Amino acid sequence: MREYAIATIPADGIGPEVIAAGTTVLASLEKRLGDIKFNVENFDWGSDYYKKNGVMMPTDGLQQLKKFDAIYFGAVGAPDVPDHITLWGLRLPICQGFDQYANVRPTKILPGITPPLRNCGPGDLDWVIVRENSEGEYSGHGGRAHKGLPEEVGTEVSIFTRVGVTRIMRYAFKLAQSRPRKFLTVVTKSNAQRHGMVMWDEIAAEVAAEFPDVTWDKMLVDAMTVRMTLNPKSLDTIVATNLHADILSDLAGALAGSLGVAPTANIDPERRFPSMFEPIHGSAFDITGKGIANPVATFWTAAQMLDHLGEPEASARLMRAVERVTGAGILTPDVGGTATTQEVTDAVVDAIHSSNV
Ligand code: NAD
Ligand code: MN
Repeated sequence: MREYAIATIPADGIGPEVIAAGTTVLASLEKRLGDIKFNVENFDWGSDYYKKNGVMMPTDGLQQLKKFDAIYFGAVGAPDVPDHITLWGLRLPICQGFDQYANVRPTKILPGITPPLRNCGPGDLDWVIVRENSEGEYSGHGGRAHKGLPEEVGTEVSIFTRVGVTRIMRYAFKLAQSRPRKFLTVVTKSNAQRHGMVMWDEIAAEVAAEFPDVTWDKMLVDAMTVRMTLNPKSLDTIVATNLHADILSDLAGALAGSLGVAPTANIDPERRFPSMFEPIHGSAFDITGKGIANPVATFWTAAQMLDHLGEPEASARLMRAVERVTGAGILTPDVGGTATTQEVTDAVVDAIHSSNV
């Protein structure tokens, strides 16, 4: 029996709804496969915890999480707590504290899902976006002077380091190398931003020399949105900064049908700390409690988690089950269906147990 310790942090809004669906599906995989076991421990951190305790997680939170093999995370964000508190109080401290510097965001059009682009079906869009997850625009540096006065100044400082850029570039080239097309697009804005972004371009060229079998090209982030929309087939693996990839991957999620099907993995490639797996979407107050949150992104990120844990067969079985269910038209309203979270979850559980999945 191979055992894995999983920390679940459902947090806010639809987070608890999709993480409940995800743990149900993990339990059914356990049953179906017979030789793996997930020891799941739940943490009630998030905005409700904040309202009671004045912090999003206990001060020894990272210490508590350290012993787990992986973290399965829902979403943060509440209508009555400022977003910068929820984000900087829980999700970012975990990403930064555990040096999860590679944020990996696969996108493809799942069977049964109609994407918004004309002439774009399954197979026309199959990307992995690698987001630098430890520095850049989200380093937290900057400040405000003369607060509230007419001469007030606010700065938001992007910090790029040679170590940080080189390691994400290597990760992206390696990932591109492992995919059939062996093709990487490096995104920057080095025409207008002439320091850190030009360093990105230079380091990309240096790292590319280590991967002679990978073809690569460069795009400016604004032009990249156009290429993603008008020529999705021309892209495969993509690497971009924290901010740029944050934006591009929401676009990617929408082009694949919905944010509700977009997963993400916050990886510490050196495996010094647990990595964290989550749907890309937020807490979605507008649909919280209605039982219609799409759990597919949360299932897909569980598949990423299984891959990371060294369980590729369990991961592949889970994705086949998800694709069987979407392909059969069992879909939540965000992707044009009428099914509830529970109905999609039940169908995925059935598919996991069916002998031909
Ligand atoms: P959101 O992702 O919560 O929702 C955007 C839209 O997509 C909404 O209409 C929502 O109903 C829909 N949607 C999202 N996930 C869905 C799902 N699984 N199934 C069906 N529909 C889904 O983004 P927002 O509305 O901009 O933000 C809401 C809160 O979430 C804010 O507080 C924000 O800061 C936070 N947020 C958190 C994260 C995170 O935890 N990683 C990410 C993004 C936003
Ligand atoms: Mn985002």
